[in-house]
Amino acid sequence: MRDCDVLIVGAGPAGCATAMLAARSGLSTVVLDRPRPAQMWAGESLPPGMGNLVRSVFGADILSESDHRCAVGTRSVWGSTALVETDFLANPLGEGWILDRARFDAAARKAVLAQGADIVQVRHIGPLTQGLSAWHLDLGDGASLRTRFLVDASGRSRILLRRLSIRRIAADRQIAILSVYPDDGDGYCGTTVEAVAEGWWYTTPLPCGRRVLAYVTDTDLWQHGTRNWHALLRQTHHVGRCAGRRALSAWPNAYPAGTAQAEHLAGENWLAVGDAAMSFDPLSSQGLASAVLMGAKAGDAIARPNRDAAFEAWAEDYRMLFAEHADLRTYYAGLERRWPDSAFWPRRQETGNQARALRGMSRAIISRTSEQLSSASSASSTSLVCDFPSTRESASSAMARSSAIGSR
Ligand SMILES: Cc1cc2nc3c(=O)[nH]c(=O)nc-3n(C[C@H](O)[C@H](O)[C@H](O)COP(=O)(O)OP(=O)(O)OC[C@H]3O[C@@H](n4cnc5c(N)ncnc54)[C@H](O)[C@@H]3O)c2cc1C
Repeated sequence: MRDCDVLIVGAGPAGCATAMLAARSGLSTVVLDRPRPAQMWAGESLPPGMGNLVRSVFGADILSESDHRCAVGTRSVWGSTALVETDFLANPLGEGWILDRARFDAAARKAVLAQGADIVQVRHIGPLTQGLSAWHLDLGDGASLRTRFLVDASGRSRILLRRLSIRRIAADRQIAILSVYPDDGDGYCGTTVEAVAEGWWYTTPLPCGRRVLAYVTDTDLWQHGTRNWHALLRQTHHVGRCAGRRALSAWPNAYPAGTAQAEHLAGENWLAVGDAAMSFDPLSSQGLASAVLMGAKAGDAIARPNRDAAFEAWAEDYRMLFAEHADLRTYYAGLERRWPDSAFWPRRQETGNQARALRGMSRAIISRTSEQLSSASSASSTSLVCDFPSTRESASSAMARSSAIGSR
């Protein structure tokens, strides 16, 4: 049986960020991961400012133009049929990024290994038991692990939370019907979103000459079938044209894309982070940066002598991020009034705290985390946090103030 201080299940952005900070603090850290099919990538973007955040956790090399693409802005068709462009060039937070997720995750894992944590590939996670001072996790074939602290960073599959019978509180039953295909789109280097009667579309040109195109709706509103996807695409005002002709022969698959939070974020010697803890609406482009931010903060909290207080502050910040996100979601849904008979939009237009959404509370959270991580890394030779957007507005507050959907 192998022993470690911290065992993290999932080597995505959340698990890797947690491992970086835990290992940096001298805790023996093991990350379990399983191979993931390449076609599952959603074509993620990082809004302006978030590049600095991920660099401050994983190092400057995590983002380069040879692996990823610098986004020039976003375009949206929202509230009217006009195509409105939000240019990132004038954004004080700097550039946005369109990620090659496979490369991004590979670089994050490399940084984790360089930090001294171990990453172990597993096919199976067996029974989990909690002893007096340690967790035991059976990995099958006679292999097992004993750890003082357990982290669920397994994404939407929330493998450990399910074992611990922690409920998922869902705000919707949203799915993304998505395809990635060779790009013959209109050449715009950024995401284009378009609201339609029962959902919305997005398309983004990815690195390596591919393009993602997705229709986001609720499961009960989706009439299955590729033909239906193509027919709906033909009805769009702009996205169909931007996405290129190959979109009409692309085959989409449906993936969960709902907004949800775990009933409890942490308990005795465990916590959940990233999509396992809270999954954000893809409209916000907030999931990945939040996973990195709150993962880093969790890794730092695990190593603190006053751990309980650190966890409380971490959980409070996490809930605040989610509340702000929920308000923004309501705000954007409220801008779309073109389809009085729609089922999709009214579900999202219930009262939210618009003032809170527009204030952009994540600015305070990012700033505070920046200071904490700064003190955690004082012993390390490289500066962890110099580029956190601490004195500037957060991506989501910038997003909220833009006239159209500036998030994606
Ligand atoms: C359609 C769509 C579009 C999106 N667009 C954006 C965007 O533009 N910008 C953005 O920031 N975010 C976006 N997101 C959200 C973003 O993809 C997630 O928030 C982010 O990937 C969460 O990171 P994570 O580390 O929590 O989970 P994941 O990235 O899902 O990583 C979880 C890891 O755990 C591993 N794992 C799972 N089960 C096990 C197991 N049993 N044993 C071992 N390992 C396991 C998986 O293999 C994986 O490596 C989008 C999401 C969707 C659905």
